[in-house]
Amino acid sequence: MTNNRIWLSLAHMGGQEQHYIQEAFDTNWVVPLGPNVDGFEKDLAEYLNENVHITALSAGTAALHLALVMLGVEAGDEVICQSFTFAASANPIVYQGATPVFVDSEADTWNMSPEFLARALAERSALGKKPKAIIPVHLYGMPAKMDEILEIASRFDISVVEDAAEALGSLYKGRKCGTFGKYAALSFNGNKIITTSGGGALVSHTEADHQQAKKLATQARDNAPWYQHSQIGYNYRMSNICAGIGRGQMLVLEEHIHRRREIHALYRNTLGRIEGLEIYTSPYPELESNYWLSCLTIDPATGLTPESLRLALEKENIETRPLWKPMHLQPVFAECPFYGDGTSDRLFATGLCLPSGSSLSDEDIHRVIDAVCALCK
Ligand SMILES: *Cc1c(COP(=O)(O)O)cnc(C)c1O
Repeated sequence: MTNNRIWLSLAHMGGQEQHYIQEAFDTNWVVPLGPNVDGFEKDLAEYLNENVHITALSAGTAALHLALVMLGVEAGDEVICQSFTFAASANPIVYQGATPVFVDSEADTWNMSPEFLARALAERSALGKKPKAIIPVHLYGMPAKMDEILEIASRFDISVVEDAAEALGSLYKGRKCGTFGKYAALSFNGNKIITTSGGGALVSHTEADHQQAKKLATQARDNAPWYQHSQIGYNYRMSNICAGIGRGQMLVLEEHIHRRREIHALYRNTLGRIEGLEIYTSPYPELESNYWLSCLTIDPATGLTPESLRLALEKENIETRPLWKPMHLQPVFAECPFYGDGTSDRLFATGLCLPSGSSLSDEDIHRVIDAVCALCK
């Protein structure tokens, strides 16, 4: 038996990517615009459906940032954000000089608790504050409870920015994640379900928003023969080379999702049957996760901790990763308001992400399963 390193989630090329890159070279479109950017945007819009507009950008973080800029988030504002997430969900709030107000997760979906969201908004409102946006996250690909979140958001007249960075292809009540909010962010970083090496996209619903996002992402140049600017802009556009990778990846996106779901099922049917272990699984049929990462939670009664498991698997040359450390526990966000009951604290203390990349073989997954089983004896 080999002992090759098993990684958490690696880039997985489909084979057609280099064709699109070659085309870009052959036609000298080696710039942050061009046929691949247009093609990738069109492919994504068709995939997501719902008449969305896609603006391809240099990162998912850039997409979140532009969404906040377009919502007019400014210094002194507040923005509600799911606490249980990667820091990239919250950092753009601070880029704008605004304050994140963190909301805890609920135990069933691991995503923004509608109950604590309503409580946070009621209390902010009593303090005379009106947050400018709400950022729910579809963490690890699991859809958040969008109906409830959108209902509360509309009751308080606040826009929703979906962080769908981990959830391309996930479905909420049959509709693709990333199509519910006024804006949504997608990510094509190296470890996501598809990659452009690095990249992201802003999802919007009007041509005007798409044009505005494109303008802001290319230094906000006005329509004049000279370089004239009436707004602060950014250099956030995706390159035509990266978009070429994206077009190739779109051809294998469904296969990647299928494989991640198979890997999740493999873990669930083995490790999920062990007393004290649980494989995080969709709690309701209407939440169809892409299972970007399969996650395990461990009952402390087993005597195992995520860290002991992680170190033991590391010895077997298997990479795992603690769950995201909630933002309200991060030193950099220690002063920010938080509404919750410790659900995400508990998840962080008991959970671990398992190798889930679509390029992993059944043999690889069984090596992980065997290594975990050996520790549970
Ligand atoms: C990856 C990720 C992002 C950021 O995307 P980048 O493309 O890396 O900038 C944002 N939010 C979440 C939840 C992510 O996992």
